[in-house]
Amino acid sequence: MTTTDEATRASSGPDVGGDDVVLELRGATKRYGSLAALDGADLVVRRGEFVAVVGPSGSGKSTMLNVMGTLDRPTEGSVRVAGHDVGDLSDDDVSRLRAEHIGFVFQHFHLAAGATATENVADGLLYAGVARGQRIARARVALEKVGLGQRLGHRPHELSGGEKQCVAIARAIVGDPTLLLADEPTGALDSTSGASVLQLLHDLNAGGTTIVVITHDLGLAASLPRRVHVRDGVVSS
Ligand code: ADP
Repeated sequence: MTTTDEATRASSGPDVGGDDVVLELRGATKRYGSLAALDGADLVVRRGEFVAVVGPSGSGKSTMLNVMGTLDRPTEGSVRVAGHDVGDLSDDDVSRLRAEHIGFVFQHFHLAAGATATENVADGLLYAGVARGQRIARARVALEKVGLGQRLGHRPHELSGGEKQCVAIARAIVGDPTLLLADEPTGALDSTSGASVLQLLHDLNAGGTTIVVITHDLGLAASLPRRVHVRDGVVSS
Protein backbone atom coordinates (compact mmCIF):
# COMPACT_ATOMS: atom_id res chain seq x y z
CA MET A 1 0.00 0.00 0.00
CA THR A 2 1.29 3.46 -0.79
CA THR A 3 1.57 6.24 1.74
CA THR A 4 -1.05 8.21 -0.14
CA ASP A 5 -3.50 5.29 0.05
CA GLU A 6 -2.95 5.08 3.79
CA ALA A 7 -3.48 8.80 4.25
CA THR A 8 -6.61 8.80 2.13
CA ARG A 9 -8.15 5.86 3.94
CA ALA A 10 -7.26 7.17 7.37
CA SER A 11 -8.88 10.51 6.61
CA SER A 12 -12.05 9.02 5.15
CA GLY A 13 -13.84 8.25 8.42
CA PRO A 14 -14.06 9.28 12.04
CA ASP A 15 -12.54 6.09 13.46
CA VAL A 16 -9.74 3.65 12.69
CA GLY A 17 -12.06 1.13 11.04
CA GLY A 18 -10.62 -1.79 9.15
CA ASP A 19 -7.11 -0.55 8.48
CA ASP A 20 -6.23 -0.66 12.16
CA VAL A 21 -4.24 2.58 12.25
CA VAL A 22 -3.86 3.60 15.88
CA LEU A 23 -1.55 6.56 15.45
CA GLU A 24 -0.62 8.61 12.44
CA LEU A 25 1.76 11.55 12.18
CA ARG A 26 1.91 13.43 8.87
CA GLY A 27 4.60 16.07 8.53
CA ALA A 28 4.39 16.65 12.28
CA THR A 29 6.65 19.54 13.19
CA LYS A 30 7.25 21.25 16.52
CA ARG A 31 9.21 24.49 16.50
CA TYR A 32 10.74 26.31 19.43
CA GLY A 33 11.71 29.62 17.86
CA SER A 34 14.06 28.76 14.99
CA LEU A 35 14.67 25.19 16.25
CA ALA A 36 12.57 22.38 14.78
CA ALA A 37 12.67 19.93 17.71
CA LEU A 38 10.49 17.67 15.54
CA ASP A 39 10.87 18.20 11.82
CA GLY A 40 8.22 16.82 9.46
CA ALA A 41 7.70 13.46 11.15
CA ASP A 42 5.71 10.79 9.29
CA LEU A 43 4.74 7.70 11.25
CA VAL A 44 1.95 5.14 11.11
CA VAL A 45 1.46 2.72 14.01
CA ARG A 46 -1.03 -0.11 13.60
CA ARG A 47 -2.96 -2.06 16.19
CA GLY A 48 -0.81 -4.72 17.84
CA GLU A 49 2.56 -3.17 16.99
CA PHE A 50 5.44 -2.77 19.47
CA VAL A 51 7.64 0.08 18.26
CA ALA A 52 10.84 1.56 19.66
CA VAL A 53 11.62 5.23 19.03
CA VAL A 54 15.38 5.55 19.39
CA GLY A 55 17.80 8.45 19.25
CA PRO A 56 20.46 10.20 21.29
CA SER A 57 19.68 12.73 24.00
CA GLY A 58 18.34 15.97 22.51
CA SER A 59 17.27 14.32 19.24
CA GLY A 60 13.57 15.10 19.71
CA LYS A 61 12.19 11.90 21.27
CA SER A 62 10.35 13.61 24.14
CA THR A 63 8.98 16.22 21.78
CA MET A 64 7.72 13.39 19.57
CA LEU A 65 6.21 11.59 22.57
CA ASN A 66 4.39 14.75 23.63
CA VAL A 67 3.02 15.24 20.12
CA MET A 68 2.07 11.54 19.72
CA GLY A 69 0.43 11.57 23.14
CA THR A 70 -1.54 14.76 22.36
CA LEU A 71 0.10 16.49 25.34
CA ASP A 72 1.40 19.04 22.87
CA ARG A 73 0.04 20.15 19.49
CA PRO A 74 2.38 20.25 16.48
CA THR A 75 3.13 23.69 15.02
CA GLU A 76 2.64 22.13 11.54
CA GLY A 77 1.37 18.82 10.20
CA SER A 78 -1.24 16.47 11.58
CA VAL A 79 -1.66 13.93 14.36
CA ARG A 80 -4.42 11.33 14.29
CA VAL A 81 -5.17 9.08 17.25
CA ALA A 82 -7.64 6.24 16.73
CA GLY A 83 -8.77 7.99 13.56
CA HIS A 84 -9.41 11.37 15.16
CA ASP A 85 -7.48 14.35 13.81
CA VAL A 86 -6.26 16.21 16.88
CA GLY A 87 -6.17 19.45 14.87
CA ASP A 88 -9.97 19.31 14.52
CA LEU A 89 -10.59 19.02 18.26
CA SER A 90 -10.94 21.52 21.10
CA ASP A 91 -8.61 21.20 24.11
CA ASP A 92 -11.40 19.51 26.11
CA ASP A 93 -12.03 17.01 23.31
CA VAL A 94 -8.29 16.31 23.05
CA SER A 95 -8.23 15.61 26.81
CA ARG A 96 -11.13 13.19 26.40
CA LEU A 97 -9.45 11.51 23.42
CA ARG A 98 -6.25 11.14 25.47
CA ALA A 99 -8.09 9.75 28.51
CA GLU A 100 -9.93 7.22 26.39
CA HIS A 101 -7.16 6.08 24.06
CA ILE A 102 -3.68 6.68 25.52
CA GLY A 103 -1.88 5.28 28.55
CA PHE A 104 1.42 6.83 29.65
CA VAL A 105 4.41 5.32 31.43
CA PHE A 106 7.28 7.59 32.50
CA GLN A 107 10.89 6.94 33.47
CA HIS A 108 10.35 8.09 37.06
CA PHE A 109 6.97 6.35 37.57
CA HIS A 110 5.03 9.50 38.69
CA LEU A 111 3.15 7.65 41.44
CA ALA A 112 1.30 9.49 44.22
CA ALA A 113 3.52 9.04 47.29
CA GLY A 114 0.91 8.55 50.01
CA ALA A 115 -1.44 6.37 47.98
CA THR A 116 -1.53 2.57 47.81
CA ALA A 117 -0.76 0.68 44.62
CA THR A 118 -4.50 0.08 44.17
CA GLU A 119 -5.33 3.78 44.63
CA ASN A 120 -2.57 4.80 42.22
CA VAL A 121 -3.85 2.45 39.55
CA ALA A 122 -7.50 3.39 40.18
CA ASP A 123 -6.49 7.00 39.46
CA GLY A 124 -5.85 5.90 35.88
CA LEU A 125 -9.66 5.79 35.52
CA LEU A 126 -10.37 9.17 37.14
CA TYR A 127 -11.26 10.85 33.85
CA ALA A 128 -13.05 7.87 32.33
CA GLY A 129 -16.33 8.40 34.19
CA VAL A 130 -16.01 5.14 36.15
CA ALA A 131 -17.53 4.95 39.68
CA ARG A 132 -15.04 4.61 42.56
CA GLY A 133 -15.93 1.02 43.50
CA GLN A 134 -15.50 -0.04 39.91
CA ARG A 135 -12.20 1.86 39.66
CA ILE A 136 -10.84 -0.04 42.67
CA ALA A 137 -12.06 -3.39 41.31
CA ARG A 138 -10.46 -2.78 37.93
CA ALA A 139 -7.24 -1.54 39.57
CA ARG A 140 -6.94 -4.87 41.43
CA VAL A 141 -7.37 -6.79 38.18
CA ALA A 142 -4.72 -4.63 36.46
CA LEU A 143 -2.28 -5.11 39.35
CA GLU A 144 -2.79 -8.86 39.20
CA LYS A 145 -2.15 -8.71 35.46
CA VAL A 146 1.27 -7.09 36.04
CA GLY A 147 2.14 -9.61 38.77
CA LEU A 148 1.52 -7.36 41.77
CA GLY A 149 -1.54 -9.06 43.22
CA GLN A 150 0.38 -9.39 46.51
CA ARG A 151 1.18 -5.66 46.71
CA LEU A 152 -2.28 -4.09 46.46
CA GLY A 153 -2.03 -2.12 49.71
CA HIS A 154 1.66 -1.17 49.44
CA ARG A 155 2.64 2.45 49.08
CA PRO A 156 5.40 3.50 46.64
CA HIS A 157 8.09 3.70 49.37
CA GLU A 158 7.36 0.04 50.22
CA LEU A 159 7.98 -1.09 46.63
CA SER A 160 11.16 -1.69 44.61
CA GLY A 161 11.86 0.42 41.52
CA GLY A 162 10.74 -2.40 39.24
CA GLU A 163 7.53 -2.86 41.23
CA LYS A 164 6.84 0.88 41.08
CA GLN A 165 7.15 0.78 37.32
CA CYS A 166 4.78 -2.20 37.20
CA VAL A 167 2.25 -0.16 39.23
CA ALA A 168 2.69 2.69 36.74
CA ILE A 169 2.14 0.26 33.87
CA ALA A 170 -0.99 -1.11 35.56
CA ARG A 171 -2.26 2.48 35.89
CA ALA A 172 -1.56 3.06 32.19
CA ILE A 173 -3.45 -0.06 31.05
CA VAL A 174 -6.33 -0.09 33.54
CA GLY A 175 -8.49 1.87 31.08
CA ASP A 176 -7.61 -0.54 28.25
CA PRO A 177 -6.03 2.17 26.08
CA THR A 178 -5.71 1.92 22.31
CA LEU A 179 -2.05 2.94 22.63
CA LEU A 180 0.49 2.64 25.44
CA LEU A 181 3.27 5.26 25.28
CA ALA A 182 6.31 4.57 27.45
CA ASP A 183 9.09 7.14 27.89
CA GLU A 184 12.36 5.45 28.94
CA PRO A 185 10.42 2.90 31.06
CA THR A 186 13.59 1.08 32.15
CA GLY A 187 15.80 4.18 32.38
CA ALA A 188 15.68 4.45 36.19
CA LEU A 189 15.93 0.70 36.88
CA ASP A 190 18.78 -1.74 37.47
CA SER A 191 19.27 -4.26 34.67
CA THR A 192 17.33 -7.09 36.36
CA SER A 193 14.25 -4.95 37.09
CA GLY A 194 14.59 -3.35 33.66
CA ALA A 195 14.51 -6.80 32.05
CA SER A 196 11.36 -7.79 33.94
CA VAL A 197 9.60 -4.52 33.05
CA LEU A 198 10.54 -5.09 29.41
CA GLN A 199 9.22 -8.66 29.64
CA LEU A 200 5.96 -7.32 31.06
CA LEU A 201 5.64 -4.95 28.10
CA HIS A 202 6.28 -7.88 25.73
CA ASP A 203 3.58 -9.91 27.53
CA LEU A 204 1.09 -7.04 27.27
CA ASN A 205 1.89 -6.66 23.59
CA ALA A 206 1.40 -10.41 23.06
CA GLY A 207 -2.02 -9.92 24.69
CA GLY A 208 -2.88 -7.26 22.10
CA THR A 209 -1.70 -3.93 23.57
CA THR A 210 -0.16 -1.55 21.02
CA ILE A 211 3.00 -0.02 22.48
CA VAL A 212 5.44 2.73 21.51
CA VAL A 213 8.56 2.92 23.68
CA ILE A 214 10.85 5.93 23.63
CA THR A 215 14.40 4.93 24.55
CA HIS A 216 18.07 5.66 24.06
CA ASP A 217 18.79 2.06 25.18
CA LEU A 218 19.88 0.31 22.01
CA GLY A 219 19.72 -3.10 23.73
CA LEU A 220 16.07 -2.56 24.60
CA ALA A 221 15.34 -1.29 21.10
CA ALA A 222 17.06 -4.32 19.56
CA SER A 223 14.58 -6.62 21.32
CA LEU A 224 11.60 -4.98 19.59
CA PRO A 225 10.18 -5.88 16.20
CA ARG A 226 10.25 -2.31 14.82
CA ARG A 227 12.59 0.63 15.37
CA VAL A 228 12.06 4.25 14.40
CA HIS A 229 15.12 6.50 14.57
CA VAL A 230 15.10 10.19 15.49
CA ARG A 231 18.05 12.49 14.88
CA ASP A 232 17.92 16.28 15.01
CA GLY A 233 14.13 16.07 14.96
CA VAL A 234 14.07 14.01 11.76
CA VAL A 235 12.34 10.62 11.94
CA SER A 236 13.36 7.63 9.82
CA SER A 237 12.40 3.95 10.01
P1 ADP B 1 15.18 14.01 23.61
O1 ADP B 1 13.92 13.59 24.26
O2 ADP B 1 15.56 13.14 22.45
O3 ADP B 1 16.31 14.14 24.59
P2 ADP B 1 13.86 16.59 23.27
O4 ADP B 1 12.63 16.31 22.51
O5 ADP B 1 13.73 16.76 24.76
O6 ADP B 1 14.96 15.46 22.96
O7 ADP B 1 14.55 17.91 22.71
C1 ADP B 1 14.80 18.10 21.31
C2 ADP B 1 15.34 19.51 21.11
O8 ADP B 1 14.32 20.46 21.38
C3 ADP B 1 16.50 19.85 22.03
O9 ADP B 1 17.42 20.65 21.31
C4 ADP B 1 15.84 20.63 23.15
O10 ADP B 1 16.76 21.53 23.74
C5 ADP B 1 14.73 21.36 22.40
N1 ADP B 1 13.56 21.61 23.26
C6 ADP B 1 12.76 20.67 23.83
N2 ADP B 1 11.76 21.25 24.53
C7 ADP B 1 11.93 22.59 24.41
C8 ADP B 1 11.21 23.75 24.92
N3 ADP B 1 10.12 23.62 25.65
N4 ADP B 1 11.68 24.96 24.58
C9 ADP B 1 12.78 25.10 23.79
N5 ADP B 1 13.50 24.06 23.29
C10 ADP B 1 13.08 22.84 23.59
